[in-house]
Amino acid sequence: MSFQDVFGTAPDGSWRAPGRVNLIGEHTDYNDGLVLPIALPNRILVTAARRDDGRIAVASSGHPGVVEFAIDELAPGSVGDWAAYPAGAAWILRESGYPIGGANLLVDSDLPSGAGLSSSAALLCATSVALLGLRDIEVDPAEVARLAQKAENQYVGAPVGLMDQMASMCCTAGHALFFDIRAMATDQIPFDPPADDLALLVVDVKAPHRHVDGEYAARRQSCEQAAAELGVPALRSIAFEDLDDALARLTDDVVRRRVRHVVTEIRRVEDAVTLMRAGKLREVGPLFTASHASLRDDFEITVPELDVAVDTALAAGALGARMTGGGFGGCIIALVEAAAAEPVLAAIEKAFAEHGFSAPAALNAPPSAGASRVS
Ligand code: ADP
Ligand code: MG
Repeated sequence: MSFQDVFGTAPDGSWRAPGRVNLIGEHTDYNDGLVLPIALPNRILVTAARRDDGRIAVASSGHPGVVEFAIDELAPGSVGDWAAYPAGAAWILRESGYPIGGANLLVDSDLPSGAGLSSSAALLCATSVALLGLRDIEVDPAEVARLAQKAENQYVGAPVGLMDQMASMCCTAGHALFFDIRAMATDQIPFDPPADDLALLVVDVKAPHRHVDGEYAARRQSCEQAAAELGVPALRSIAFEDLDDALARLTDDVVRRRVRHVVTEIRRVEDAVTLMRAGKLREVGPLFTASHASLRDDFEITVPELDVAVDTALAAGALGARMTGGGFGGCIIALVEAAAAEPVLAAIEKAFAEHGFSAPAALNAPPSAGASRVS
């Protein structure tokens, strides 16, 4: 589907924004914690042309039809379904006083949707940079990320954190983005597996999502309850060295395990960053594996497909592996010697067939760049 076919004119430019995986630091974001995402080579591409009537028309090669709306009339919920994302991006830019104007937008994607790779944030970010770029409005990437999060929260109605949008906007090739949520500070950490004869595999386990929203809310609630019981604003305030004391002060065993995950996971992010800075990428593997065990046993957000994929990757020689994302489905990542990538994948495919699971889908994921103008 070409832009000319859909809109009858030539485009003025195109902008891309990538999906992401979080290397480690799972479910610490809403505890003011630490996360370490990379951007994927897979991205959402928005090809765009200005129009001067204050209206935006959007089409996506993944969806039938064209959706059109007036920028002035946008209000949370006024546009539904997938077009809520581009509409939400336009709404928050207007609300924030940026002088965007009408546009025709064509969305194209090689990023799986709904697989936990953050196609929603990529779509918001790609639309935002396209609408800004069409009018030559320069905005700091972190600010675009913040606005995209607001759009997802307030326009689409999804209570997401800021990691996905920050990764899509601020990652750089060959690096992971160390994002300290309490400090709102970022740092680019060298992480380039191919340069070290390694590969980072991302495997979509294609598990049907089960009770995800309710379970996510329950985990958040446990963490908030624990922070209140411990008299701290968020679990980030519990130092790793004080973990045993904190656990002894909690009454509920489930809450205790949730806390242990968050506090140890934050420590694992710090350890991973230290190792990456020292160029010891292979030593990061065991941290991935420990993170998975914590998510499985203490946070209880894995499903059999995730556990089988991780266990099989490790048995086939991966240096480390873990689920990534919200849990209950989505993807695993595995750090492997480059030469082991194919055998590890083959082992996972075989194990999935033996368990009667859906066939998994793999992506090779060299850490890639954040959003940019393409043409
Ligand atoms: P994830 O962010 O993990 O991919 P979400 O459920 O948060 O999953 O976001 C997926 C939604 O984003 C889709 O249901 C759709 O509304 C929108 N989306 C993603 N990719 C596209 C696309 N190429 N075209 C149109 N909408 C898309
Ligand atoms: Mg999403």
